[in-house]
Amino acid sequence: MRRFRILAGLALASICLFSCDKPGGNQGNKTPQIEKGEHLADVTYQVNVYSFADSDGDGWGDLKGVTQHLDYFESLGVSALWLSPVQAAMSYHGYNVTDYNAINPKLGTEADFKDLINQAKAKGIGIYMDYVLNHSGSDNAWFKSACANPTGPYRDYYVLSENPTADVAAGKIDNYGGAKAPGMGNWYTVTGGSTGYKGRLHFLVDMSKKTVTVTQTTATPQSPCTGSPKCWLWIGDEGGVGLYETSANIFEITIDVDTSWGFLIRTSLTTWDGGTKWGGDGSGLTFGTPYKINNTTAADITFGGTALYYFASFDKSMPDLNYGPYDKASESAAFKDLAASADKWIKMGVAGLRLDAVIWIYQNQTAANVAFLKSWYDHCNATWKAGGGQGDFYMVGEAWCDNAEQMAPYYKGLPSNFNFYYWYTLKDRIKKARGDDFAKTVLYFRGLFKAQRPGFIDAIKLTNHDEDRAAEDLGKSLEKEKLAAAVLLTSPGKPYIYQGEELGYWGNKGGGDEYVRAPIKWTKTGTVPTTALGGKVDNSMLSASISVEAQSADEASLLSVYRKFSQARNTYKALARGEISEVSSSNPAIALWTMSYEGQTVLVAHNFGAGVVSVNVPGGGLSAEGILVSNGVVTANDTSLTLGAYASAVFAQ
Ligand code: MG
Repeated sequence: MRRFRILAGLALASICLFSCDKPGGNQGNKTPQIEKGEHLADVTYQVNVYSFADSDGDGWGDLKGVTQHLDYFESLGVSALWLSPVQAAMSYHGYNVTDYNAINPKLGTEADFKDLINQAKAKGIGIYMDYVLNHSGSDNAWFKSACANPTGPYRDYYVLSENPTADVAAGKIDNYGGAKAPGMGNWYTVTGGSTGYKGRLHFLVDMSKKTVTVTQTTATPQSPCTGSPKCWLWIGDEGGVGLYETSANIFEITIDVDTSWGFLIRTSLTTWDGGTKWGGDGSGLTFGTPYKINNTTAADITFGGTALYYFASFDKSMPDLNYGPYDKASESAAFKDLAASADKWIKMGVAGLRLDAVIWIYQNQTAANVAFLKSWYDHCNATWKAGGGQGDFYMVGEAWCDNAEQMAPYYKGLPSNFNFYYWYTLKDRIKKARGDDFAKTVLYFRGLFKAQRPGFIDAIKLTNHDEDRAAEDLGKSLEKEKLAAAVLLTSPGKPYIYQGEELGYWGNKGGGDEYVRAPIKWTKTGTVPTTALGGKVDNSMLSASISVEAQSADEASLLSVYRKFSQARNTYKALARGEISEVSSSNPAIALWTMSYEGQTVLVAHNFGAGVVSVNVPGGGLSAEGILVSNGVVTANDTSLTLGAYASAVFAQ
């Protein structure tokens, strides 16, 4: 039988810190606040900078708005902020960067960013940047240069091809990580370079030299020759256009054309036979240069030279970056340029990076992605250490795979990865009122990750900016939201809280991603910044009662539950850093586990169901005085534990 170690010192501390929080949920005193000092809990808060807080009234959240609310993060016991992309970008969310070295002017200045870093650091809060390595924005100067100048220095920064089908078949597309087909994405046409043309042109056919010279012009267009032309232009959908014979064997016309396929020269409109069809050799013409025509192997005469295409995993405004063969990625120009930008921010004081969409860097080819990510991490970690950074640099990947088994190998490349599967399991079990196997699942995840990297940092979370809100998934049940918060903050790993989750925001992506990215409602009556979101905000949700002001004054609010459990996590090392062990539960609704660290052990209990449930706890030793933090109705007497609907408790025994 397992015995729980008595935490003499902590039990005393619990009486002092949590005297307002006796079983039964009697919470009469003021909202618990995190003390300044060491942040044991490793709680990170995900900020949508564009909608978090607006310091200047322009309707956009901004960096100064984040700085002005550092006390809010302290009250949540947060030790790091993951900021949505702050670099110059094309759209409000920032995931199409136009300049990796510049701050988005909509969000503030580089000085504002430095100020945020420094003020946050003074409170023990690190700043994590969101880094988008899979693709840039199509307005990035690198991409514009790559498209405009096929022999220029930026051509290799992107996945460009004159013939994607042939290049893919020949294994020439490094971005595919050795695969013949992409996991996701499309090829898009770079401007021009195709077969057709729309505009005003002058045509001059020289039948003695067997050439056609096409020139772009602003001269007045002519009507087609209607006499008995000896030579016609066969173009677009219109068919034959008679040319004027301006001298012996010279035929000319200026007209507006709109053709998707090019053109041909014909010396008869009544037959294609007998050498009356004149075309090219398959190459495109160059404006102003005589182009050879023939009437034996006549191919359509096309405009503007060679076609060029680029690859994009997500959207045509997000061209994929190209790092060359994955085993030599760090030697590529794009890698070096991006690494230099990361160095700039790390030297400025950025404490970590969140890497976007890492499974698409090499098209869902795990080995290739992992090799790339290891190179990237090693580079940034070296920069961090050279600048005097303590320990290893923090970096977390969005390796959003189908399941935890597929994601686990990404730990070979990165020290931390988001655990999407944690939330999938948690919401499923809450819906089913099944808590008894939750610890087993958490242990299973940890086993997968540990096998890849012993020092793994499990980035556990409920939802993020790309998912339907947690409250939406839980049917807007405040009791279930409190349970989810308590489970998150009593689980091993590094918990992430997503902007608005702590207030019970709901919303789904059906009407647009904006509806899961709502602004913080700071006060009961104040306005919120909605410009970045294009006004796509659920105002019925942003009521006075959901505001920070209202919830801070309510000991029973969801925000208070987040603060209370985060405070407990910051207070008890076993809760913050302990290894989890499963405790068998005699009721399917009840989740039980212990967390142990440096000789300290706490018992964690949650009721995933709506009923009042009593269970027998092996080892016993439970008492009301041993409750370190709780939510809902909890009573305990030695081996007997009773939890009300969706109640949670952490015991020192
Ligand atoms: Mg603003």
